[in-house]
Amino acid sequence: MPTSAERREELKAVYAEARACTRCPELAQTRTQVVFGSGNADADLMFVGEAPGAREDEQGVPFVGAAGKQLEELLGGVGLKRTDVFICNVLKCRPPGNRDPLPAEIENCQDYLMRQVELIEPRVICTLGNFATKLLRGDPTGISRLHGQAEIRVVGRRAVRLYPLFHPAAALYTRSLMDTLRADFARLPELLALPLPAAPEPDAAPGPQPEPGAEQLGLF
Ligand code: URA
Repeated sequence: MPTSAERREELKAVYAEARACTRCPELAQTRTQVVFGSGNADADLMFVGEAPGAREDEQGVPFVGAAGKQLEELLGGVGLKRTDVFICNVLKCRPPGNRDPLPAEIENCQDYLMRQVELIEPRVICTLGNFATKLLRGDPTGISRLHGQAEIRVVGRRAVRLYPLFHPAAALYTRSLMDTLRADFARLPELLALPLPAAPEPDAAPGPQPEPGAEQLGLF
């Protein structure tokens, strides 16, 4: 089991790799810098948004614009600060003009997110909005149906409580969503206090094959 200091060092190595990433030629050309993620490298709680915007691209830190202010306010409501949690995005580079992430970009960037999850070892991952929710659930169900419903999911090689939430930017345009977000955030302390979900079985090499069962022999 690597120590938290070892995991932190490894996370820095993944960051160094991401900073030089050219997997998405357009994003590599248009970004100012890679926005890898920020916060506590040993956090129990991780937030995954969509992609950096203009301010994030400028500063190299996720959620520093208007949506970031909303996120900080919501965190404050449950007694947390940015430095208590780890915040990152599905895409580590800003899509030009803040367009939606493309499927190929999500695919290219996915490995960085999985390695972040493995190294940070969160207990709870909040997906903010549709892109993160669909990616980490591996299912196209939208956030309006799923927000506020925690479930145990395997992300990378880690079992976590996945907790989909509306994206704080959505609350900038639809004020009533801020109340929904506050209500969903209010459940975070309770989720963080739950026991760690059991780790998934490692990919076991196929064990000894059982004798052909009755069903295989066509017997009932
Ligand atoms: N929206 C996101 O999804 N991520 C950011 O970092 C900023 C805004």
